[in-house]
Amino acid sequence: IRRIGVYTSGGDAPGMNAAIRAVVRTALYNNIKVTGIFRGYEGMIEGDFTEMVSRSVSSILQKGGTILKSARCPEFRTLEGRKKAYDNIQRSGIDALVAIGGDGTFTGAEIFSQEYDIPVLCIPGTIDNDLYGTDYTLGFDTANNTVIDAIDKIKDTAASHNRLFFVEVMGRDSGCIALNAGVAGGAEAIMLPEKETAIDELIDMLETAKDRNKTSMIVIIAEGDKNGGAYNVAKRVNEKFDFYDTKVSILGHLQRGGSPSSFDRVLATRMGYFAVNELLKGNRSATVGIRGSKMVTTTLEEALRGKEFKLDEELITIAEVMNI
Ligand code: ADP
Repeated sequence: IRRIGVYTSGGDAPGMNAAIRAVVRTALYNNIKVTGIFRGYEGMIEGDFTEMVSRSVSSILQKGGTILKSARCPEFRTLEGRKKAYDNIQRSGIDALVAIGGDGTFTGAEIFSQEYDIPVLCIPGTIDNDLYGTDYTLGFDTANNTVIDAIDKIKDTAASHNRLFFVEVMGRDSGCIALNAGVAGGAEAIMLPEKETAIDELIDMLETAKDRNKTSMIVIIAEGDKNGGAYNVAKRVNEKFDFYDTKVSILGHLQRGGSPSSFDRVLATRMGYFAVNELLKGNRSATVGIRGSKMVTTTLEEALRGKEFKLDEELITIAEVMNI
């Protein structure tokens, strides 16, 4: 391998910059040149490339977002789009890729590497933590810290005014942030996309909490909850449940930003280092991940079509037990 192309794609996540830095510096350490590809597959198709040297990644370790930018690129789903991308890659001497993103990004990478026989290692970057092949994805820990910070603040005002708050957190298909935030933030109820909670069931939980003389309550709702989001849940609960005052707070995109936590910085650095070393060892198609405290690889085949990602059932039970 003489030149690695690195890109970030799909939804951005804190820690992506730290991963770019680790890829660049590990490659340079091994006398491999690095091309930065802007805006994921879009930049690949347009040839929007830049030479990365060690100074290109100075002081980005602590920055949220991604200096290489990210995009969603429908054209890469077509043969013609991928042909254009390959021509650009070949012209610039890139002979291996490191992709940082979610499962859409991995799917594109797998198809591309099979079509053009180019090795590609993937780094899981998404706040949703819903990828198979790793215990933690980049950005999940930071997003949780952001959410907890917000919930703590909401709890202060909820307690002062005897309020019931419905807080919506990110996760269209994944309840990881909601579950974690629910446990860490001491929520009275958690609504997850993976586990339907009927409104009547939620009201029962809130009635119980009220009977226990709780004067303020927090319900965490993942955006993908089947009841249609925090406003809908609040409206339907209000029709039947009488509490002092109810409010809705949708945390939104602030969950995607911010300086990565110490955990995400170290994880990103390990993943970037590990991905480049796997390429050097001849691995041609895999995602890196962490299992326990060990770095592991999973083939893209298994990561994309292996077992379904599952929420931690025990943590769901623990969250319920904590509301006794
Ligand atoms: P994420 O990587 O966060 O899951 P997306 O699902 O938007 O984000 O995927 C990112 C990009 O990966 C897409 O915009 C597209 O360019 C590429 N991609 C996703 N699925 C495919 C596919 N089946 N074939 C080719 N490219 C794909």
